[in-house]
Amino acid sequence: MEHTMVKGRFAPSPSGRMHLGNAWSALLAWLSVRSRGGTMVLRLEDLDPDRCKRSFCDGVEEDLRWLGLDWDEGGCQGGDLYYQSKRSAWYAEALEWLQKQELLYPCYCTRGQLHAANAPHRSDGEVIYAGTCRNLTMEERLEREKVRRPALRIRVPEQEIRFTDRLQGTYTEQLAQDCGDFILRRSDGVFAYQLAVVVDDALMGITDVTRGSDLLSSTPRQIFLQQQLGYATPEYCHVPLLCAPDGRRLSKREADLTLAALRESGMKPETIVGRLACAAGLIDRPEPISAAELIPLFSVDKLPKEDLAFRWQV
Ligand code: GLU
Ligand code: ZN
Repeated sequence: MEHTMVKGRFAPSPSGRMHLGNAWSALLAWLSVRSRGGTMVLRLEDLDPDRCKRSFCDGVEEDLRWLGLDWDEGGCQGGDLYYQSKRSAWYAEALEWLQKQELLYPCYCTRGQLHAANAPHRSDGEVIYAGTCRNLTMEERLEREKVRRPALRIRVPEQEIRFTDRLQGTYTEQLAQDCGDFILRRSDGVFAYQLAVVVDDALMGITDVTRGSDLLSSTPRQIFLQQQLGYATPEYCHVPLLCAPDGRRLSKREADLTLAALRESGMKPETIVGRLACAAGLIDRPEPISAAELIPLFSVDKLPKEDLAFRWQV
């Protein structure tokens, strides 16, 4: 029996109303924590000022509560501390530390240059950086600075990152080949998700990261940053994604599948939780059940590993 205190989090990006896919990953993150008597944090990942709105943050809280998912820290009651848009000072400090280790360099490449036709891609579809700006001289940097504000990239070494995911098992990545140097601050000054999430998980004492498997391939980058910054690595559990019957992942485009719309149509939260719990293998039939009733039924071993085609009949 392990006695370390479990602390997990919901970390939604408030760029729209929560939809069923968000409810699915929130439910599983919550159960992972509550089934072990842990502490739950709500952190709003509203870093991107163009996409995130305060009203969506409030919508997340309303939707989580309606589903019966509570938290112990964060959200609007936690004040500014739990909104990434207000946490720049910590990200800047981490960046400065990495800068002092001479791990960072400015990158002046345009989107067009990065997405050149022959650019290799990572498993998540993003372009692997070719290293164009890695070894620019000071003169070359000053020259480019005149026309373009740079992004900041971190130099990754030839290193293998390996970790054991609670659900997906061992996952390995060769940083240099599979990932490449990645951005920590965009050219418009916005801190990158990879940096913010690592700083926040560490400063908030997160020990359990249960989230969608779309972020599995981000994890080696996050572990690499944890190592550079002297942070502990939490336990990861990447749950499969809910997909529409045609195999596309559910997304914010499915406006009719927002929790707000379902609630307005008269749907009960227990109905939604029951269907999600059945898809998760926690109950045998998609019958109504509350989130709290699922706590004793939760076990990572029951969860499916593959993405799920989810048929939703209203
Ligand atoms: N904010 C991220 C998202 O909504 C999740 C971050 C995380 O769980 O690490 O996709
Ligand atoms: Zn570059």
